[in-house]
Amino acid sequence: MAKLKATETAKRAALEGMQMMGGYGCATEYDMERHLRTAVVSTVYGGTSEIQREIIGKSYGL
Ligand SMILES: Cc1cc2nc3c(=O)[nH]c(=O)nc-3n(C[C@H](O)[C@H](O)[C@H](O)COP(=O)(O)OP(=O)(O)OC[C@H]3O[C@@H](n4cnc5c(N)ncnc54)[C@H](O)[C@@H]3O)c2cc1C
Repeated sequence: MAKLKATETAKRAALEGMQMMGGYGCATEYDMERHLRTAVVSTVYGGTSEIQREIIGKSYGL
């Protein structure tokens, strides 16, 4: 649950950061691009968000 919440929140925050910076947010010259890539991939490794939701749902008998 903590992994799902932390990584999805990081992804949302990074997307907001990129949006605020406009084009610079996507440019490799700025750290934001790396933060976004890192945040997005964190919702994949160590168990994707979809699979985390499956596991959490099953643990509640859903
Ligand atoms: C940077 C990085 C580092 C990694 N490090 C390691 C490591 O150290 N050790 C290791 O063992 N592995 C590692 N991995 C692999 C990682 O664990 C897998 O990429 C991850 O488990 C997802 O598997 P997959 O890539 O085969 O995607 P897939 O399983 O093919 O999934 C593709 C998409 O389909 C979705 N999906 C799949 N099945 C379902 C389902 N039943 N219901 C709903 N949606 C579903 C997934 O959520 C995902 O969005 C790493 C991956 C990355 C990107």
